[in-house]
Amino acid sequence: MTRDVIIIGGGHNGLVCANYLAKSGMKVHILEKRHMVGGAAVTEEFHPGFKNSVAAYTVSLLNPKIIKDMALHDYGLKIVERQVNNIWPHDNGDFLAFVVGSANLKTEVALFSQKDAEALDRYFRDTRMVADLIRDFLLESPPNAGGGIKDIFKVAKFGNRLRRLPLEDERIVMDIFTKSVSDFLDLYFENDYVKAAFAFDGIVGNYADTKTPGSAYVLMHHSFGDVNGKKGVWGHAIGGMGAITQAMAQSVLARGVKIETDKSIHKILIEDGKATGVILENGAVIKAKIIVANVNPSLLYNKMIDKTHLPADFSRRMKHYKNGSGTFRMNVALRELPKFTCLQQQARATQAHLTGGIVIGPTMAYLDRAYHESKQHGWSPMPIIELLIPSTLDKSLAPEGQHVASLFCQQFDPNLDWDSHREAAAETIIDQIEKFAPGFRDSILGQQILSPLDLERIFGLTKGDIMHGHLTLDQMFSARPILGNGNYRSPIAGLYMCGSGTHPGGGVTGVPGHNSAQEIIRDH
Ligand SMILES: Cc1cc2nc3c(=O)[nH]c(=O)nc-3n(C[C@H](O)[C@H](O)[C@H](O)COP(=O)(O)OP(=O)(O)OC[C@H]3O[C@@H](n4cnc5c(N)ncnc54)[C@H](O)[C@@H]3O)c2cc1C
Repeated sequence: MTRDVIIIGGGHNGLVCANYLAKSGMKVHILEKRHMVGGAAVTEEFHPGFKNSVAAYTVSLLNPKIIKDMALHDYGLKIVERQVNNIWPHDNGDFLAFVVGSANLKTEVALFSQKDAEALDRYFRDTRMVADLIRDFLLESPPNAGGGIKDIFKVAKFGNRLRRLPLEDERIVMDIFTKSVSDFLDLYFENDYVKAAFAFDGIVGNYADTKTPGSAYVLMHHSFGDVNGKKGVWGHAIGGMGAITQAMAQSVLARGVKIETDKSIHKILIEDGKATGVILENGAVIKAKIIVANVNPSLLYNKMIDKTHLPADFSRRMKHYKNGSGTFRMNVALRELPKFTCLQQQARATQAHLTGGIVIGPTMAYLDRAYHESKQHGWSPMPIIELLIPSTLDKSLAPEGQHVASLFCQQFDPNLDWDSHREAAAETIIDQIEKFAPGFRDSILGQQILSPLDLERIFGLTKGDIMHGHLTLDQMFSARPILGNGNYRSPIAGLYMCGSGTHPGGGVTGVPGHNSAQEIIRDH
């Protein structure tokens, strides 16, 4: 039977797209390369008895409309908040914590700078103002360059929304989209520890230093979500990130979507200039009226389609679509909770501090050095590491009394020969944690190492890019993945995109899948 729609890849965006298409009456067929759907948002047993969200590990950006439309709570999704958001251990045995509650946070920041504590209200007002603006335009396609009257109205709507802002707010919007995270934070804060703590989000999934123009937006990209209605907060899905995508899978199955795993697509079948099906790695052909790609745009246009089918200018530019977030990921099974020196030494530390992300990246110089050393040597001997222990909030992940930790590490050269360096880089990461939490190495019962190359091989993430392409101004909004195709349509009739390489980019948001479905429904 010819299905109406084939979706290439069962990542969370493929599942979201399938949901809306099936709801509109289309027969949808998802073909996923791996043995399970979920893409980078999955829970797997990585060591006997120990499960974890093996790639994406924390939730905030998942759009509330999608949670509601797909009834994810009815399919078992439960998201809990961290009791402390993040902590940053310092070399001198102290730490800075982003504790919950604005009064508590002010008290904490005042330990480092009274002036910075007073600046917090202004900082959060300004960044929330921009986050609200982004939220207003999330669930619709950006205006498309070269589009018709509909797109002109969209530009006008966007312009009007900006025009209504007071001048200083317009300046802040401009700052966020153009400045480096370092320059942006200088507008608010003076203390190096405080600045570094905020700057961390500007270099997560962004292979750049804090002085790189545009990195202020990456910070913003991590701030427009919410957990259970609390804006800007990050939480944990009980059962891990796989609980989100398994709930999505159940939701789409209930709508009649067909899901097949272990089906790797080799090429898009193109006949008379139109996408008419897919050719699997085993040579089998499956046809459909509409093909939707959940995969990275580089994978789609540079590997799955012969360039003879693409406009020459388009093809030339897609060859240079920028990938490589510089991310290295480990999962560790732990005999016991780590003993961070700073948490042992400081009287204000509590057990709740271990529920937060523990970030080794205390100063601006540390963050920048990690990037510059990685450019020279592949990675820094003092890498940036976020260690999160989800088993402090979720007993389902590890045997009683034992724990799992996600190590999310930044500034690892995406172009290195990682087959030769994977283990050495992992050793550096463990050594660095050991300096802040003596005994950590001995507590490890098992580990999974995911270099950028492993992220590409296992999850299909080109150069291990967690966002499906850099979140730089030239690859954002109407220009994601490329100007003229920022509306989820490819240059080939019948072929659409629904993954994180489209607006608004990476993260477990579901938004590309949602918006893509709206455009497909509009066309049919
Ligand atoms: C290490 C890491 C940590 C992250 N941390 C977070 C986090 O904590 N919070 C957050 O919100 N985001 C995080 N992200 C980002 C987020 O997970 C991704 O941006 C998001 O999951 C991408 O979703 P997607 O559906 O667009 O694509 P993907 O999840 O990449 O899905 C694409 C699907 O296509 C499949 N596929 C690939 N090639 C083929 C083929 N040839 N044939 C058939 N199928 C194919 C893949 O197997 C995959 O299932 C992280 C990502 C990584 C990698």
